[in-house]
Amino acid sequence: DLDERLGTDYYAVFADLDAADRAVWDRAKTLVDETAPRMRDAWDTASYPLEVVRRFGELDLLTDGIDHPDLTHISPLAAGLVNMEVSRGDGSLGTVLAVQGGLALRTLALFGSAQQQSRWLRPLARAEVLGAFALTEPDHGSDSVSLETVARRDGDQWVLRGTKKWIGNGASGGITFVWARVDDETSDDHGAVRCFLVEQDTPGYIGTVITGKVSLRAIHQAHITLEDVRVPHDAVLPGTRSFKDASVVLYSTRSGVAWSALGHATACYEAALSYARQRVQFGKPLATFQMVQERLAQMLEELTAMQLYCRHLADLEASGGLRPTQASLAKYHNTRTARRIASTARDLLGGNGILLENGVMQHMADIEAIHTYEGTESIQALLIGRDITGMSAFA
Ligand code: FAD
Repeated sequence: DLDERLGTDYYAVFADLDAADRAVWDRAKTLVDETAPRMRDAWDTASYPLEVVRRFGELDLLTDGIDHPDLTHISPLAAGLVNMEVSRGDGSLGTVLAVQGGLALRTLALFGSAQQQSRWLRPLARAEVLGAFALTEPDHGSDSVSLETVARRDGDQWVLRGTKKWIGNGASGGITFVWARVDDETSDDHGAVRCFLVEQDTPGYIGTVITGKVSLRAIHQAHITLEDVRVPHDAVLPGTRSFKDASVVLYSTRSGVAWSALGHATACYEAALSYARQRVQFGKPLATFQMVQERLAQMLEELTAMQLYCRHLADLEASGGLRPTQASLAKYHNTRTARRIASTARDLLGGNGILLENGVMQHMADIEAIHTYEGTESIQALLIGRDITGMSAFA
């Protein structure tokens, strides 16, 4: 079955995988296929598929290639393939992986104290506890560097106050990594952005699930109000010292988004190809018409470019040579391209393309969210632009 899927791999970009990477990919693919009916229902009813997320945790598929002695290590390529495969199946699951593994677990693994890690790392990796990463605020999305949530020191406690928006897993009963600005004039940290580990049942933490979404309906994002939330002095992640630390996490997860976009686009291309071969109009299968073939060729051309970006990203990361703006370029290219592929596929399915049961419209809706999160298209362009010109055009 996996070999059949390699039919979309026209340049054999993933044909030389070693046994370990292939085993991880296979494990992800099997679980994605098994849980596909449940995920379609979850999207339709906007219900969080907790039992599916737990299965991913049990099978060690949430660690996103994070290199930490207490976590099962998988290569950047295997981590990318898991991202791709999961999003090929369902975008909400892809986003759960990005939040639980990519953002929350990575923040803890990179910046947490030994004590914080020994308490939370394994439960997060196994999805026994759900984790959230709270950076964005209602008034600060692309300019999250200007975040207004504050952490004030009071004796041996921190007191957090502010609001956060769009926080995946932010109302799940688990833990949230809250990025806040230190308000303590007596300390060298005054004004610095640091990260705090907050248990969601702490008094004053109010997480409300955002409803009415028409994208990624099966994962819940929260609006969070922090009303003088008191946490112990050691709730701060000692490795976080400035906003740059939040950026370090985001650089890593941007590669994951490029892979997710590839997963969505692969599903759309496969659906369009299969439909074009079966659907008969004017007495012949759609696939026999020249214009249809041209559109399929265009989709494959774009899909292959996405695969090449992803493979090279993984190889650069494995060699330790990946620069943040290279991940930006891949995200920029892949989410834009996935949007085009999804739109062409939707059109090729005709009226059936808008039915949820055919999947394409769901992917199309889900791609809209990944195109925006972890830095919008314009923000990636500004990051790349600053890198290649040496001039910042952000403000
Ligand atoms: P804005 O910043 O208001 O941007 C609106 C438009 O203006 C965009 O097109 C943008 O490109 C453009 N724009 C902004 N500034 C410039 C500029 N200088 N030049 C040119 N154009 C500009 N955040 C978290 O912290 N944790 C999460 O778990 C999380 N999950 C998310 C899940 C979903 C489904 C979504 C939709 C968002 C999530 N986010 C999360 C937030 C996400 O990262 C932000 O939505 C994103 O960074 C964009 O911010 P914004 O929505 O406020 O848009």
